[in-house]
This record gives sequence, structure tokens and C-alpha cells, in this order.
Amino acid sequence: MDSGIRLEAAGSQGAGGYSDGLSLYVHIPFCETKCHYCDFNTYAGIDALIPGYLNALETEIRFWGGRLSRPAVSTVFFGGGTPSYVPIEGIEAICAAIFEAFDVDEDAETTLESNPGDYSKRDLSRYLGVGINRLSIGVQSLDDGLLKSLSRRHDSGTAIGAYRSAREAGFEDINLDLMFGLPGQTADQWRATLERAVELGPEHLSLYALTVEEGTPLDAMVKGGEIDEPDPDLAAEMYLLAESFLGDAGFDHYEISNWSLPGRESRHNLAYWLNASYLGVGPGAHSYLSGRRFAALRSPRRYVDLLSDALPDGDPVDSLSAVGVLDSIEPVTPAMELADTMMMGMRLSRGVRSDEFRGRFGLELADAFGPLIDELSGMGLLVGDAVGIRLSDGGRLLGNEVFERFVTASAEVELPPR
Ligand code: SF4
Repeated sequence: MDSGIRLEAAGSQGAGGYSDGLSLYVHIPFCETKCHYCDFNTYAGIDALIPGYLNALETEIRFWGGRLSRPAVSTVFFGGGTPSYVPIEGIEAICAAIFEAFDVDEDAETTLESNPGDYSKRDLSRYLGVGINRLSIGVQSLDDGLLKSLSRRHDSGTAIGAYRSAREAGFEDINLDLMFGLPGQTADQWRATLERAVELGPEHLSLYALTVEEGTPLDAMVKGGEIDEPDPDLAAEMYLLAESFLGDAGFDHYEISNWSLPGRESRHNLAYWLNASYLGVGPGAHSYLSGRRFAALRSPRRYVDLLSDALPDGDPVDSLSAVGVLDSIEPVTPAMELADTMMMGMRLSRGVRSDEFRGRFGLELADAFGPLIDELSGMGLLVGDAVGIRLSDGGRLLGNEVFERFVTASAEVELPPR
């Protein structure tokens, strides 16, 4: 699938509509061990819950497929947590349920997040056999000392072995997750990881700066003086290093934290950044559908209990909310849709396109945000032309400030009635 076509299609579905196909997120909240920096909704030591959890997940998938009359799905993403940690038979059963309950496009992008070392070559072939065609590998670093300091279970050799096994099994679309700005990490170590990662030949790289999340063990270690707080200036230097190195290596920097070979962007994540509709299943999963954003409760155990009972008839969001599976529902007003579209669209290097904006909101970008666009362009943070607006190279480093300005300005925009 040409990603340019998908960009237009996804961007044209305002207010959580999904006539061009839903993006489906499947949450797997299990990990063998919990990394000290992680604040995702995932747990170690609850493996006994896995069989019941997979049953509950299947129930939720069939529930949505039935209530939405088997809608089209264009991307599927197994995230977590560590989807590769659950037995392969479980992933096979969930895939079978998805293909039965939803009308999955023939060329759907179906991604599975994985930890190096969790799978054998045989597992990898079985993933391909059930329609998973994109593998995301949590490499994080190719420096063994840094991997240890991150409390990761794998070393660089295991990560490289996992990548090679995936290629040999037949995966043609592989993402590597890498982290930078780590305590004790030097720019030279970061460059060495980037060089080795690029040598492998992945289609996609996601690069994340380490952030110290409140309440994590890492947070306690930093507060207790055991580990130095990550240096934001060094992280910015590493980000610029990656930008120049990966640009020279032929990667497009298509989103603030994501690089891909031309045409190999993550279609699933593009749906989020284009503020298109998506459905999340599993505890803690978020959705944006038919003018509402909603999220499921976070506890996997409670999720399993609640889905073991019959669900009431009627609107699916109301049904799941009535039994307690959903614990937050928010109608999306046109002003919120505008703010979200700007905040997420500006993360993309293509920015927000004039024609898509006009098609979605019935208004010109310049009429909605003219003075702000002029101000930010004058400060060198924004580039605007007939195609649309996007962050400048300098603006990328101050992206959060720019997004905030658009969110604030969105509240003042008078949108034409729909
Ligand atoms: S493997 Fe990933 S999801 Fe699991 S604890 Fe570590 S960072 Fe979090």
C-alpha cells in the first residue's frame, strides 16, 4: 500500500468515522519482568491470568465485531506489555477471532511488538502464518552495559539474533525501538548503536528519549541520588545526531520520534497522528470512534471478571460502560477535534495539509490560525506554504510549545456548522 494514499484516506475521516477502515489496537498487559523506567499498563508475575485474559480479549473482539457489523479494519497492532511473551497459540487464537469478527483488509498492516529472545524461528513463521506481517523489536540499545542499566533481559547479541531470525522467517517489515538520553550514555555510544542498527537494514526506527515517569522505580532511584537525572541537553544533542545520521542513511524523518525508509511509515501510528478513528481492546486501551473517546479500566484481573458475564444489548460503548469495562467516555466536540488534529498532525514532518484541513473542517487553515501561523513562522518555528503548515527543523526541538499554542488557539476558532 502506498502510504501517501493511506495518509489522505485516514485524514479525511473526521469525528471518529471509519468508513475507510478502523485501526485496531490489541493490548497484551504481560511482561516477564517489569523494566524500572516503564509506566505502561503491564504487569510481571500474573502469568496465571494469561489463559483467562486471552478468553476475555476474544470475547471483547467478537463483541465489537458483532455490534459494529463486522467493520473494515486496515491496521492491527498488538502492543503492551510484551505480546511476544504470551504463548504463540494465544496470539493465533486472537488473530483468528479478529479475522472472523472484522473485515480485515487483504493488505492490512498487522504489527506485533516483541522482546528479543522471546521467540524461536518457528514462532516467527507462525506469526506470519496468521497474518502478522510487521514485527517491532524492542532493542532499546546495542550496548550491553546500557541494556543492563535499563534492567532489560536481553543483550545486544540476542537483539541482533532476533532481527536476523525475523528476516530469515520472511518478515519484510521490521521496526527497531531504540532509546537515547540514558544515564551514563555518551554521544559516541549512541552513534555506535545507530550505526549497528542501520547496518542491519530495518525498514523503520522508533527513537525515544528516556523520561523519568513519576512513581516508577527509576523515579525513586533518581530521587534517591542513585542515578543521575537524564540530561536534556545531551538528549537533544543525541536527537540531532540521529536526525543527521539517519537522514544520510536514507531514512525519512516522518514523525518526531519515527524514521522510515521511503514509503515504509507505520500506517497504524499514522492513523493516530492524522486523528483518524481507532478501536482499542484490552485493559487500559483507548479508542476514538464515532465522535467519542473512551478508555477501558486498567486492571487485567477485573477486566477478565467483567467480561465473563453477558453484556447488555444496545450501543456498544454504553454496554461496556454499564458493566464497568469502560471507565471513561468523552464526547469529542468540533473544537476538541480541531485541537487534536492540530496537535497530532504537527508531529508529522508533512504537518497539517491545507486541502485535508479544508475537507475536514470546511475552513481554510489561514482563516483558522492566520495570526498564529505568522507569529510562529516569524520566530522560525513553522514553515507555511500552499501545501500546508509544518514544524521547521528548529521548531521540532520546541514542538511541545508549538502544539500548545495551536491547542489554545483552537478554542477561539469559529468552525462552520456541519
Ligand atoms: S518490556 Fe516494555 S512494556 Fe514490558 S516492562 Fe519493559 S518497557 Fe515496559
